[in-house]
Amino acid sequence: MTNNALLVVDVQNDFCPGGALGVSGGTEIIPVINTYIEKFSSRHWPVIATRDWHPVKTKHFKEYGGMWPVHCVRETPGAEFHPMLHLPLTTILVYKGMDPEKDSYSAFHAEDKNGTSLEKILRSLKTSQIWIAGLATDYCVKFSALDARNLGFHVKILIDAVRGVNVQPWDSEHAVQEIVKKGAEIIRSENADEIFEQP
Ligand SMILES: [Zn+2]
Repeated sequence: MTNNALLVVDVQNDFCPGGALGVSGGTEIIPVINTYIEKFSSRHWPVIATRDWHPVKTKHFKEYGGMWPVHCVRETPGAEFHPMLHLPLTTILVYKGMDPEKDSYSAFHAEDKNGTSLEKILRSLKTSQIWIAGLATDYCVKFSALDARNLGFHVKILIDAVRGVNVQPWDSEHAVQEIVKKGAEIIRSENADEIFEQP
């Protein structure tokens, strides 16, 4: 039997247009993500949401040697989930990027408020397949998907529910190719329903 979990990656104000590191089209995907959230919660399947949750000073930021402008500093409005995102109360929240020495792009570097890692959470839920949506395709989505495959999970990338930063114009496409090469499947929301009907 397949046990599914939905992983919603970093749908936070700073990654949406107008934010400190706004991803073009970032808000367009939120209604699509919401439909997946509804499908999962109506089946009592787990919904997990990650938040980039940085300290003020981290090597991840440009001014301390990294490549990014200051974004998603913990407890700031930029780190809040985008208001259009409808997360149910049962959502499992995990946080990443707290270590000032590391970039921590992957959701598998995330942990909940009690310090339980995402992998441990998924194992205890007996999850075998992870559906991934969110931001950004070429960083946190990519590294989360690759780690998930390396850890033996089946992965579905919800292609119309992800968007990339595209520091270089083809970064997102290359990221998707890399993920698919690792054995992930690409799902479009219009085809998702038939998959949900499968036993
Ligand atoms: Zn970050």
